[in-house]
Amino acid sequence: MATRTGRAAAFYGAGQPIEIKEYPIPDPEPGAALVKISLANLCGSDLHSWRGDIDYAKRGRALPRHLGHEGTGSIAALGEGVTTDSNGESLAVGDRVVFAYFFPCGRCRACLKGKDWACPRRAHHLVQSCDHAPYFKGTFGDYFYLYPNHTVFKAPDDLPDELLVGVNCAMAQVTSGLDLAGVGVGDNVVIQGAGGLGLYAIAVARERGAGKIIVVDGVAERLEVASMFGADEFIDLRELPEPEKRITRVKELTGGWGADVVLELAGFPQVTREGVQMVGSGGSYVEIGNISPGLTYDADPALWVTQNITIFGNNVYGRRHLRDALDILRRTRDKYPFHRIVSDSFPLDQINEVMEAQDKGHITRSSLVP
Ligand SMILES: [Zn+2]
Ligand SMILES: [Zn+2]
Repeated sequence: MATRTGRAAAFYGAGQPIEIKEYPIPDPEPGAALVKISLANLCGSDLHSWRGDIDYAKRGRALPRHLGHEGTGSIAALGEGVTTDSNGESLAVGDRVVFAYFFPCGRCRACLKGKDWACPRRAHHLVQSCDHAPYFKGTFGDYFYLYPNHTVFKAPDDLPDELLVGVNCAMAQVTSGLDLAGVGVGDNVVIQGAGGLGLYAIAVARERGAGKIIVVDGVAERLEVASMFGADEFIDLRELPEPEKRITRVKELTGGWGADVVLELAGFPQVTREGVQMVGSGGSYVEIGNISPGLTYDADPALWVTQNITIFGNNVYGRRHLRDALDILRRTRDKYPFHRIVSDSFPLDQINEVMEAQDKGHITRSSLVP
């Protein structure tokens, strides 16, 4: 009998076409599981990879790399010993799931401190290329391999894939960032960037009891969806092109004080330069968007000191944040227009065209269907 195979979108480096390759479908080892991908989102960090903003060699990652990390699917196979999800609910082949796409080791200094998101080995599976078993190391393709000690949650039947697909990156990411900053009742929050991350951040901040939620963006469609999500105030980059005026506007909207928490979800260093000046005395700045090393701005550390600003850098999220994000989605699916976050859907084999279109801003956020 011929070996059964599945497809994976393999990235060979910036400027080179992504190839759809066929790999043998692996049998999960004990403690592991295999997910059949039903839908995957093209996230901003995939674009950073594709453009070449991230030096994979420097980060110890091999090429070709199976691209994609945001996605959902169902259990295709379970390794020996895996009988439940991370909530302790029974897990079987065919169950629809959300999963974390990284695998903290559980034994390094960060993991021992309870900061599993900071585990340096969380992406150990990317040290070898996708030409090495178990091949399926990304979500743009037919399968995703969940290594032992993975985090996986059964999805409620009534939540369609279109709503689940963004939980394991964008939604869990902002759930983590807002948790780090301790956003609570009455806190005024500024969200820089109303892409997928920013829209989820409106919902999660609101569920945490935030006061005024102020969104900064310059794209009409994004601001419109942000208003459907219930943000209170909008600062349109087209109307206020000077950063100084936007900073003043945030002060005006917060009784002259400044924001309690500002989240950077746009991914450009000048956005950070502006955002830290929007933070009120004693407030926090949460940096999530900038993931491309080497892009800098001229910082003024005295501002952080004299204003007693706490700055959090946050890449990926804790296991509990994935659970919390799924729980918020389950409870509030009719309260927020989550279905508006993804604008377009395409077949997997159009991945090169879709990357280009989303990079140029012709599409805001797209899904790929394997
Ligand atoms: Zn992502
Ligand atoms: Zn670790």
